[in-house]
Formats: sequence, structure tokens, C-alpha cells
Amino acid sequence: PAPRLQIPFDNSFARLHEVFYTKLNPQPVSAPALIKVNENLADLLGISAEALASDEGIAALAGNAIPEGAEPLAAVYAGHQFGGWSPRLGDGRAILLGEVIGKDGIRRDIQLKGSGRTPYSRNGDGRAALGPVLREYLVSEAMATLGIPTTRALAAVTTGDPVFRETTLPGAILTRVAQSHIRVGTFQYHYSRQDVGALQILLDHVIERHYPELKSLGQSATQTTPGTHPATHPAIALIWAVAARQAELVARWMQVGFIHGVMNTDNMSVAGETIDFGPCAFIDRFDPATVFSSIDEGGRYAWSNQPAIAHWNLSRLAQSLVPLLPADAEGNIDVAEIQEAVNSFEPAFQKAFYEGFGRKLGLLTPQEGDSAFVETTLELLDNQEVDFTLFFRHLTRCAAALTAPADTAPAGPASKGTPAKKPAANKAAEDRTTEDKTGATASSNAESDLAALFAAPTALSDPASGWLTLWHKRLSQEASSPAERLKIMQRLNPVFIPRNHRVEEMISAAQSGDFAPFEKLLAILSRPYEEQPENANFETPPTDNRPYRTFCG
Ligand code: AMP
Ligand code: MG
Ligand code: MG
Repeated sequence: PAPRLQIPFDNSFARLHEVFYTKLNPQPVSAPALIKVNENLADLLGISAEALASDEGIAALAGNAIPEGAEPLAAVYAGHQFGGWSPRLGDGRAILLGEVIGKDGIRRDIQLKGSGRTPYSRNGDGRAALGPVLREYLVSEAMATLGIPTTRALAAVTTGDPVFRETTLPGAILTRVAQSHIRVGTFQYHYSRQDVGALQILLDHVIERHYPELKSLGQSATQTTPGTHPATHPAIALIWAVAARQAELVARWMQVGFIHGVMNTDNMSVAGETIDFGPCAFIDRFDPATVFSSIDEGGRYAWSNQPAIAHWNLSRLAQSLVPLLPADAEGNIDVAEIQEAVNSFEPAFQKAFYEGFGRKLGLLTPQEGDSAFVETTLELLDNQEVDFTLFFRHLTRCAAALTAPADTAPAGPASKGTPAKKPAANKAAEDRTTEDKTGATASSNAESDLAALFAAPTALSDPASGWLTLWHKRLSQEASSPAERLKIMQRLNPVFIPRNHRVEEMISAAQSGDFAPFEKLLAILSRPYEEQPENANFETPPTDNRPYRTFCG
């Protein structure tokens, strides 16, 4: 028999004041069935994957039974949705079961999403359809394996109940794991009610939980944390800290062509994780103005707008913290200090963005002109309608060819052709010739694959003015070795991303009961940086050019 389900809950959020949530249980479903348990994540959390997959586990994942130690609740928050103020949102279809401290020492929430109505459901049904649940499972796990901070998926179940959207769809529940579900909108909610006591509790909780390094910071105006930033107050320090994490996060998104799609303040985690995968999608052919979400008519959350939006959201966080700041005798607060903290986002983002893109191009020793070179590169990709992921993937192959023959064994059939029974001296010479040829072949294959992505390949390959010439010239100024560069490029330029058409295919199949494409895509994306020749057809964009649209699910 399967082991009993034991989850080592320790629920710090539930121990906070009731002003932060409503305690209530998930609503039961008709016929829960397991889709998937994330064994690695279960192990990290100290939960038996086998127990989760048992009848007892499935009942818990469906909300039909409350596991021992859980303290189910729906959290309240507010938010700016597409710039418009919503005074009360909250977990309208999610229930926080509680928190566990993982084997890595990190505290994480375990939340059921799609678990029924709550006091915050407004007009919603409290449920989730199978498609969006699988999209979130797959894309959040892909983000995790890409090395980008993100909420994760512990499990998914079907409910046996239909949900009614434009059509009738199978219902499902995702078990989401996050460092916390506290958002900018959580602070906004208590600020809008002028509940200074709640704001103080929330600030202390967030610092304790996500930024313990700020704890040493006193309230005294003379105290600073050496080597970090000039903040003199924990609230200011938090703004700096969230700015730094969000700057890094948004830069990482953009470097894999990720468009979040719904960067409302209630979807921005103060822990700096990617959260809410409703309308998100990855760019195929690069265009910085790309928007996928059907409701984002103004392009507010386009690829290139993401940093400006994160910055704006951060100023909403700062505004919400104002009541906690000390005022002078006239009751004025130090506005410049707050602005400096909010605006620290911009240089932090610029650095993360340009250095990160530089590294994707193999530029490990930043120098003047690199930002302009990154800009030139992105403009070229845009003008030439180049597939974003494949560009960096094939460029990485070009970089691999540059390390041959000295640093790596070149791939391809020619490398296997060591001639037998040759005199030793001749053999060495022969091998070198073979390798040289192979290196050259690998290089020309990679370059022609790269050129094939371009509308006008001379823009890449022209010996005088082509981009490759600029790239080689810049590489020649690198202090790094070709092998070092290659290693970084291989670590930052994925071979596989969740291609939109593959995600849609996977969802269609699952809706008619076939979960094999889900399993397959998940397996491919568990090793996104590795060559998988048998899955080469999952590298490429769709052959048709229809614009892709996503919906909020
Ligand atoms: P989102 O756009 O996913 O960030 O959701 C915005 C708000 O709507 C959040 O408070 C959600 O909890 C709520 N919400 C979204 N879908 C539903 C639903 N089907 N039922 C109830 N509330 C929902
Ligand atoms: Mg949301
Ligand atoms: Mg364009």
C-alpha cells in the first residue's frame, strides 16, 4: 500500500492577523483523477510523491479532503488591472493549504488553484479549465528548468466536473507552489484601507520571509546596510530589494522571449517569482511589440513594455508603504528617498538586460559599445523576422564550431571516420585534416542554418557589412576563451522553449483524453538546453504565420 500522506506544514501566513484572509475549505469535486505529480518537487518539499498519487493524495489535491496540518484560507488583495484600480480582488479560485519548509531550507506555499468559490470570486465560478491548468503546469516547470525564478507545479488533477467558458470544458485543479503568494496588490489592499497596522505586519512578514538580510536594518536614520544600498528604513530597503529582483526577473523573461501577458499589480510577486501564467506565451519570430493576450488591445504588456510596467508596479508598492515611513515635524516624508528606491529599478534592469543579452552572444567581458551591439542585434532580428530562440541556438552552434578542433570533438559523421591501419605519424596528420574539415563543416552548417532564418541572409553573411562580421570582430576583443564562451551560451540559449503551437496541440489532445503529448512536452522541456536530435521537430516554430492569441483562462 502507498505511504500515508504527511505534509510537514508550518503556516506562517495563517498565523498573521485575519485581516489578510478568510479561512475556508476548498469545495469538493465529483470525480477526481490524477494527471501528474511532480516527483522532484515533492521530494524537495519533503512530501512523498507516492502518497500524493494515492487515493488519499488525490483527494487532498482535489480539495475533497483536508490534509493534516493544513489551515485552508483564501487571501485578500487588490490591484491595478490594465492600469485600472480594483479595490478588492483576492483568491477567487484558489485556496492556500499552508506552507512547508523544503530540503533547501526555503519556505513555500502550497495552494490549490481552481478549488471553488471564495468570498473573493466576484462573478467567477472559482474553477479552472483543464487547458489553462496544463499550460501553467508546463510553462511554469519550463521556466524552472530554464533557471528563471517562478512559481511551480506540484500536481494536477481533473475534477470530473465541467466548467463553462465559451464552450464546456473539463475542469481541473493545479497545485501551485510559490515562495509566497504575496503580491504588490496585497500591500495595495491594506494601503487603500489606510490600515497601517496591517501594512506593518505585512512588511515584517515579507522581510522575514523573503529578504531576511534586511532584518538588521534598524528604524534609525543613521543605520545602513554596508555594501547594499543607502536605505535607512525597512520599507525603503524593501523597495530597493524588490526592484533588484524584479529587474533581474524581467530581464531573464525577455532573454528567452517570454511575454507574461498580464502584469497587473496583483500578478507581481514581492518575492520576485514569475506568477500567473494565464495569457503568457513565448515569441517565435522576434518583434518587440509582440502581444499575445486577446484582451491586451493597447499592447500594454508587450515584450518591450515589460520593464516599464514592472517599474510602474513598483511605484504602486512604494506608494503603499508610505504610511510606514517616518514623517518630519511638519508631517512630510522624504519623497526623494522613495523615488530613488523606485528608480533603482532602471539601472538594475539595464545592467541585467544588456549583460544578459551580451552573454547570450558570448560576450563575457562587458565593454563599451556592447549595449549598442545588443540593440543592433535585436533590431536586425526584428527587421529580418528571425525566430528569436533559433537565432541564439544556431549562434551557439557557430560558437561551438569556433572551439573545434582544439576544445571539443566536432559532431557529425566525419568525426567518426578515423582511418584504420595507418602509420602512426601519418595518422596524426590525417586526423588533424579530418578534424579541420569537420570543424569547418560544423561551422558552415551552423552558419547556413542561421542564415536560413533571415528574410535577407546577406544582412547576416555579407563579408563586409554582415552581422557575423561584427560579431567575430567583437569576439576577437574578448578576454574569455572560445570554450568559456560556449559554455555560457549553452547555458543561456535554450534549444527548446514551450512553443505556442506545441502547447496548443498538447491542450487539444488532453481535452480529448490523451495526456501523452503533455508528458512528452514536459520531458523535452525538462532538459531545455540539451540537444535532443530525436525531438528536433519540437525546436521549430509553426509553419503557418497566423497570429497567436492567448486568453486569460
Ligand atoms: P487573474 O487575471 O488571473 O490575475 O485574476 C484576477 C482575479 O480574478 C483574481 O482575484 C482571481 O482570483 C480572479 N479569478 C480569475 N478567474 C476566476 C474564476 N474562474 N473564478 C473566480 N475568480 C476568478
Ligand atoms: Mg492573478
Ligand atoms: Mg517589428
